[in-house]
Amino acid sequence: MQDSQGKTVLLLTEKTEDIYTWKIINSDVPAIIFFSLSNKQIGSFLLDFLAVDFNNIEHFNNFINIYGLSSLVGLSKTTKDIFANKSEGKWIKGFEKIYEMDSKDKYSRIMERIYNESNTELKILQDIFKRAIYLCFDVNGPEWSKGLTVFQRFAVIETMMSKTAREIRDEAKHTTYDFQVVPDTDSVSRTFPAVYYIDEIYAEVYANQIRDINYHKVEKCTCDSPGGICYASFKKLLENNALIKKCQHCGDYFIPSKRIDEEYCDKVVKTLPGGITRTCKDVGPMLKYSKKDKDPLIIEYRRAYKNRHSKLKKGLTKEEFYYWKEEATLMMKGVRQGKYSIEEFKEWCKKDKGES
Ligand SMILES: [Zn+2]
Repeated sequence: MQDSQGKTVLLLTEKTEDIYTWKIINSDVPAIIFFSLSNKQIGSFLLDFLAVDFNNIEHFNNFINIYGLSSLVGLSKTTKDIFANKSEGKWIKGFEKIYEMDSKDKYSRIMERIYNESNTELKILQDIFKRAIYLCFDVNGPEWSKGLTVFQRFAVIETMMSKTAREIRDEAKHTTYDFQVVPDTDSVSRTFPAVYYIDEIYAEVYANQIRDINYHKVEKCTCDSPGGICYASFKKLLENNALIKKCQHCGDYFIPSKRIDEEYCDKVVKTLPGGITRTCKDVGPMLKYSKKDKDPLIIEYRRAYKNRHSKLKKGLTKEEFYYWKEEATLMMKGVRQGKYSIEEFKEWCKKDKGES
């Protein structure tokens, strides 16, 4: 990966994306290290990027802590300088640690400068790709998108919304496309040969070492801007005919992992004492339920429903019961729409009960 120093590299298969990036670690002596996020679901970077609140420097820092500094090279002069080795700081020989800052204080100043330089553009990028996702992949996208494949949806965008299509395609300039052959993961875990000398005369030695390892081809995208990474991801989601939903708890986009009717994402939203984590999937349905539980209208309805239901054994016919249920549903809708008050609904339930 040395050829891509200071750039972010994506290796894409049909279903997964591996991200190789350069990231600052804020330890006692902050430094930049080379680092990889492997085997993430396709679109992970893009959806994580869209979920960041770039008005908040803390959120910005968290995002950069995960995805590295190199994703910003095209947007921030400071970042570019760091990788061009023009900025102050010490480069440390070796592959792992490439740049060292003298203090934590300096780290904060640099991060703040980078934030100020890239913030506006990051927000513009977010808007472009939020809109792109909504138009192309969102299960609850615009009315015209119902029943269309993602290719058909993209055709509508290209033909009828050329500005949007251009904005998406513009980000391609931040990505260089290539391919790479990589060993299958199960092969690597067996034994992967160490390379001691790189020279043609050792080709045969190396060839013998990898004879039993299976290789496959992956797409390689080298990017210098988050826009480039988003574009590469977007393109792959398009090829995959992806469907994307908004999480009912946090409101961020996610790709349903098992079933299309999933309502909540797998983002960790709570950490309990002892390090136990809770995701939107854990928390969302419970909150929804407890919200329902506290809803005075629902409480009133349940009370009346129970009452009615108990009358089934005392002469109330099933037809009458279902008729009542339908009427009650309409009444509730009326309350929600502001046609009746809850008090009126209560009165209606009592009156109706009295008549039976
Ligand atoms: Zn969520």
